[in-house]
Amino acid sequence: MEDITLSRRSRRLRLEQARELEALTANVPCGVLCCRNDEFLTLNFVSEGFCRMTGFGRGEIASQFDDRFIRMVCEKDRGLLLRRAVGRRKQDGAAEITYRIAGKGGSLIWILDKTRLQEDCNGNIWLYSVLMNITEAQKTQEELAVTEERYRMLLEHAADPILDFNLKTGKIYYSPTFTAKFGTGFPQCGNLLEYLEKSSVIYGQDRRLLLDRTLRLLRGKPMEDGEFRFREAGGGYIWCNVHPTAFFDDQGEATRLIVVISNIDRRKRESIALRRQAEHDLLTGLFNRVTATERINRIIAQSGKGERHALFVIDIDNFKKINDRLGHLKGDEMIVETASRIKRLFREKDVVARVGGDEFVVFLRRILSVELAVKKAESIGDAFRASRASGCCGLSGSVGISFYPHDGSSYEELFRKADAAMYAAKNSGKNSFRIYTREIDQITQAGIRNWAEGL
Ligand code: GH3
Ligand code: MG
Repeated sequence: MEDITLSRRSRRLRLEQARELEALTANVPCGVLCCRNDEFLTLNFVSEGFCRMTGFGRGEIASQFDDRFIRMVCEKDRGLLLRRAVGRRKQDGAAEITYRIAGKGGSLIWILDKTRLQEDCNGNIWLYSVLMNITEAQKTQEELAVTEERYRMLLEHAADPILDFNLKTGKIYYSPTFTAKFGTGFPQCGNLLEYLEKSSVIYGQDRRLLLDRTLRLLRGKPMEDGEFRFREAGGGYIWCNVHPTAFFDDQGEATRLIVVISNIDRRKRESIALRRQAEHDLLTGLFNRVTATERINRIIAQSGKGERHALFVIDIDNFKKINDRLGHLKGDEMIVETASRIKRLFREKDVVARVGGDEFVVFLRRILSVELAVKKAESIGDAFRASRASGCCGLSGSVGISFYPHDGSSYEELFRKADAAMYAAKNSGKNSFRIYTREIDQITQAGIRNWAEGL
């Protein structure tokens, strides 16, 4: 008698609980279930939200699935759910389980189930579950995994070396072609830029530019490819094209840097050789007239206030006679020797060029005094005399000098005046130098007039 009363009370209690649950969960967007802790997960309560989520009404759940939740679960996931939900103990607290259930019309719904065990006053264990539909998120996750897999395969099989730097974690991935080409001595984690700044893997002269460009890129400046020299594993430096791509988060902070490096060594060396050919005089290797004009005008344009430069025009004396006496080939040799002797007298930053058959130009940058120019002119004379000592006949040259900015503010103007000074040296017996003066110009102008009148 007492037992019957108890079971009635317990049923009444459960009905009350179900009504309470109904009221509580009616407007909750996720599904709420209460099941027995048995092998079928027999349903005791199904919320409106769950019906909306699956498309099945309560009657359909009872008729099609026998009120057994396990039947709604995708067959492959049933074992997992039973292990994780039913096989737990009360004190294990809430569990999070992801599995698939059937939706109406044959669809599969990905569920995130937060489930908790609860014991009622009769000692029965119930499973209370809150179910969220995570199908969309799961799809995105799957698509992301496919994309990642595709990306990984691309990296693995790309012909060009690739470097993938995660700026958030500091982790760096090097593709197999990267390590095959440049070796394995690179850091796997940490500040890659700091490492590159110190490492000799990048050619010394290129290092600063590459690092500056990378920093600019990470600050969100436009991306540009660049050509730099990298050291091959166990070899020398090769020219590479560096193609960087930076990725940014919503705050505009760089999160990832992917760099594709392609070997352009042959093409680059060929183009350097071609440019060199175009810029230089073939016989002597000095700059040619066009390059000299460009370079000197560029230096002038970049000159600061108070900067002084000197332009030398140098012409071999009586070279025709040397040619006549020794032959053209020997004449060529003497031009080459003279060129190299003149070149040796000046610094890398000065411009030394062959601008005519036996005529040279030197642009001496940033001279502090006229005396220095005079000294250089004397050294040029010595160089000619040294050629005479080593050669088989006498060699001398005449030199004319003009100064920037005193005598002109363009190469053309400075050349005209230094050339006039050089002719003044020729006229006064050759084998000497002259600094341009206004008188020289007057003499030159008078000479031109006389010459024109004589025509
Ligand atoms: P000057 O003292 O007045 O300069 O007399 P010059 O005989 O040196 O005559 P000029 O400078 O006017 O002429 C230079 C000569 O150099 C003309 C040409 O016969 C010769 N020449 C020009 N280019 C070359 C070259 O590439 N090789 C050789 N061997 N001779 C050249
Ligand atoms: Mg000459």
